Amino acid sequence: NAKSRGRDGFQFFNQQIQKDAERNAELHLRLKSAISGNEFALYYQPIVNPNTGKIVKAEVLLRWQYNGQFISPDEFIPIAEESGFIVHIGEWVRTEALATLKQLQSKKLAVPLAINVSTIEFWTDDLQQRFLAYFDNKQVELGNNQLPYHLLTLEITESLMMKQQDNVSQLFIELRRRGMQISVDDFGTGYSSLSYLANFPVDQVKIDKSFIQKISMGTRHEALIEAIVSMSRALDLSIVAEGVETQNELDFIKQQDIEAVQGYFFYKPMPKEAFFELLAKQAQLN
Ligand code: C2E
Ligand code: MG
Ligand code: MG
Ligand code: MG
Repeated sequence: NAKSRGRDGFQFFNQQIQKDAERNAELHLRLKSAISGNEFALYYQPIVNPNTGKIVKAEVLLRWQYNGQFISPDEFIPIAEESGFIVHIGEWVRTEALATLKQLQSKKLAVPLAINVSTIEFWTDDLQQRFLAYFDNKQVELGNNQLPYHLLTLEITESLMMKQQDNVSQLFIELRRRGMQISVDDFGTGYSSLSYLANFPVDQVKIDKSFIQKISMGTRHEALIEAIVSMSRALDLSIVAEGVETQNELDFIKQQDIEAVQGYFFYKPMPKEAFFELLAKQAQLN
């Protein structure tokens, strides 16, 4: 009867919560040894010119292989954020990405790399200082003028723009003065307010894939994309369309004169070796 079904449902729900909590606790524990255990790797997803297919940039995406299985960053990043361990992970990612850039430069294959940064990494004044100090120390380590700031983009999310506006603005100004670019990731999904975009010193917006994937579905997302595009142009921001999977979506993006696209239609994220091969092949064609 309905009553017992209700109770079963409740029990099932309880068990699910318990299971989630256990997995959470386990991942939480295991994350702490993921760096020393060599369990992290970076994948690279090319970002291309939609008209020529030429690779203009690549996004660096973190992968965690744990017990022989890949765990999605959408699952483990929030856990790492909760414990603050994301700060160490972020520094590991930047160190690896910089090493990759150096290798690419020595092969004359360098393209700009976009690195995701968690809001938590900018949470306090101390963390903001630490963020800058990381690059200062790197610069000393590499020798003067050896840090390719101009080949680095930081991808941040809208929620960061709402927090501690003055301090974060100041930090962005400092980072951009050194030559880095700031890109607003997943644009349109947060509490985006136009005034944040106008007030914040950023260079680029990445239109979230949830908008792209609703192109030609009879919803009004095309109109939203058009609005984001014209607003970005007015603010002199460059645009990346994320999550382009079909010819249809690509055609719409081209009509909008969007200068860069990322998505499975062109490339999925790939391991470093494959990425290097791809860049080498492209260089040969030119
Ligand atoms: P994101 O920064 O928005 O990255 C784009 C995500 O979309 C990636 O998922 C990418 O694999 C996926 N994607 C790209 N093209 C397509 C497409 O055509 N179709 C579909 N369905 N998906 C596409 P991924 O690698 O699973 O990363 C998920 C999120 O995890 C990232 O979203 C980012 O927020 C976070 N993340 C990844 N690496 C890092 C990192 O090093 N640090 C931090 N803080 N966060 C990271
Ligand atoms: Mg990103
Ligand atoms: Mg995104
Ligand atoms: Mg995201």
